[in-house]
Amino acid sequence: MDSLCLGSFLVRRVVETEGPFAPLDFIVPQADAARVEAAAHWLRPGYLDAANRVVMSFQSHVLDTGRHRILVDACVGDDKERPLRPGWHRQRFGWLQALAAAGLRPEDIDFVCCTHLHADHVGWNTCLRDGRWVPTFPRAKYVFARREYAHWEAEHRAALAQGRPAPNHGSFADSVLPVVDAGQAVMADDGHAFEDGVWLEPAPGHTPGTVTLQARSDGAHGIFCGDILHTPVQLLDPGWNSRFCEDAALAAATRRRLVERAADSATLLMPAHFPGAVGGRVVTDGGGWRWEAEQSHRAPT
Ligand SMILES: [Zn+2]
Repeated sequence: MDSLCLGSFLVRRVVETEGPFAPLDFIVPQADAARVEAAAHWLRPGYLDAANRVVMSFQSHVLDTGRHRILVDACVGDDKERPLRPGWHRQRFGWLQALAAAGLRPEDIDFVCCTHLHADHVGWNTCLRDGRWVPTFPRAKYVFARREYAHWEAEHRAALAQGRPAPNHGSFADSVLPVVDAGQAVMADDGHAFEDGVWLEPAPGHTPGTVTLQARSDGAHGIFCGDILHTPVQLLDPGWNSRFCEDAALAAATRRRLVERAADSATLLMPAHFPGAVGGRVVTDGGGWRWEAEQSHRAPT
C-alpha cells in the first residue's frame, strides 16, 4: 500500500494520474536551465523526463488519525465539463477504484479538506448522479478556508454577471457549490482544528486563501502543502513560482518559509503533485535544497 506513518497517524496516497505533464518552462517559467542541469542527478528521471517535461501526479492524501479520516485535495474528477483542458474533459480516471484499493469507501471519509479551490483540487468533491452533481462523500464535512471560498465565490458571481467564462474551468459551480447546497460545507478560519494535532494554517499566494493542513502525532510532523510546491525543481530556488501562482511575491515568500521550516528537520511534506511517493523531506544541498522521497512502507496492522 502507498502509505506512511506519521506518529500514530497513517497517511495514504490515492493517485488519479501520474506521468509527464507539461514542459518545465511552461510549469515553472523562471527555472534556470543551468541550475536544473546541475541537479539532474536527483531530478531525472523521476521528476523531469528526457524531453524536459515535469513528471507530476494528481493525487489525494488520506490522513487517518484513528478518530477521523481526512481526505486532502480531490483531484480533477470524472465527467467534468472542461473543454479548455482536454486532459480533464469528461474523463473517467478510475480514482474511486484507487480509493477502494487503499481500503476506503466514500462513506469512510469524515472530512474533505481542499488546500485551495483550483479545478484539480476539488473534482472528486462531487460526482454525477442522475444528471446532477452531488457530494461524493455522503457523511463528510467539507472544510473550505473561508477566505478562499469568499474569493472564488466573488469571482464566480462576477463572471456570471458579466457573461464571462466561469473561473477555474467551472469547477466552483460543479464541485464546490453543490457541497454547500447539500449542507455539507464548513467555512474554516485560520487555525481551524479538526482534532488535537490536526489544524489548518494560512499559506496565501498560490491563491488568496490557500491553506496547509498540519498534522502532529507522537513527535512526528507532516504538512499537506497543496500547490505551494508543484515540483521538486522549485527546491533549487523557492523564488521560482509555478505559472498558476496568482500573487507572485506572496507565493514565493510562502514557499520559502515552508522550505526553510521543513529543511533538515523531521517534518514531512505531502505536496499535491509530487510523483512517486506519499511524501518526503527537504534537505539542504549546496546553495539550495533537494527532495528526498520518504519510502513508503506497510503500516503495522
Ligand atoms: Zn494543483
